[in-house]
Amino acid sequence: MELFDSHAHYEDAMFEEDRHERLEALRSTDVKYVLNCCSDAGVFETVIEITEVHDFVYGSIGIHPHWVLEAPDNYLDVIWDYLQNDKIVALGEIGLDYFWKEPRDLQEVVFRRQLGMAVDADIPVIIHDRDAHADCIRILEEYKPQGILHRYGGPVELLEKAFSWGMYVSYNNDLTYPEWRQPHIDCLMKTPWERMLVETDCPYAPPYERKEDRCESSDVANVVKVIAELRGVSEEFVAKITTENAKRVYRITDKNKVEL
Ligand SMILES: [Zn+2]
Repeated sequence: MELFDSHAHYEDAMFEEDRHERLEALRSTDVKYVLNCCSDAGVFETVIEITEVHDFVYGSIGIHPHWVLEAPDNYLDVIWDYLQNDKIVALGEIGLDYFWKEPRDLQEVVFRRQLGMAVDADIPVIIHDRDAHADCIRILEEYKPQGILHRYGGPVELLEKAFSWGMYVSYNNDLTYPEWRQPHIDCLMKTPWERMLVETDCPYAPPYERKEDRCESSDVANVVKVIAELRGVSEEFVAKITTENAKRVYRITDKNKVEL
C-alpha cells in the first residue's frame, strides 16, 4: 500500500529533537508521501528545511487563525515568496477558530486576504475550521477555492456545499474517539470517494487507544483501517484512492518530486 499523510506538523516543538529521524523512519512503512502543514510565520523556515531534507515531504505555508496576532505586517508578500518554491504545494492552514480567543474580525480579514491570493494564483488551500462551520463555509462559498477541509466535523450539508465547487475533506483519527467521532462519521459516510483524503495532524490527535502519546504519520494506517471498516471496502482501496486524491489536489507531479 502507498499512503499519503495529507496533513502533519513535523515543524512542531514536540518534534524538535527527532523530526528528521522520525521522518526517515517512515521509509520502512507504507507512508510514501507527507504534506507538512504550516501554522505561523515563526515556523516558515522549519517547514522549508523539512521539505528540503526529505524528498517525499511537501509543504504548505500560511497563517493559522490561532496565530493572526503574531503575523508580520507584510505576511502576504512573505507567503507569496515562499509559494514560489516547487515543494510548497498549498497555502495553509488558514481559516477560522472560535475555540481560542483571537479577535474574530481579525481572523476573518487574514482568512479572506489569504483566500483571495490563493484563488488569484490558483493554489490549493488547507482549511482549519474549529467551531466556526457556518461562517467558514459562507466565506469559502464567496471565493470557491480549490483545496481541503481538514478534520472537518460540522454539518454534512455545509460539507456538501464545499464539494459542489470541488473541495476535498481529510479524515484523521478523530474517527476513533467515542466522545466526538459521530459528526466526523456522519460526514465520512456522505463523502464521495473522489473527494476523500486521510491525515494524522501529528503530533496531535493520536488514535484513541494511545491518546496520551504523540502521534506520527504512520498512524495514518489506522485512519485507513477505520474508514475501510465503516464503508465496507478494503484498506487497499482506501489507501489507493486517498493517495491519488491527495496527489491530485496538491498537484504533485514529476516536476516537483525532487530527487535528492
Ligand atoms: Zn494542522
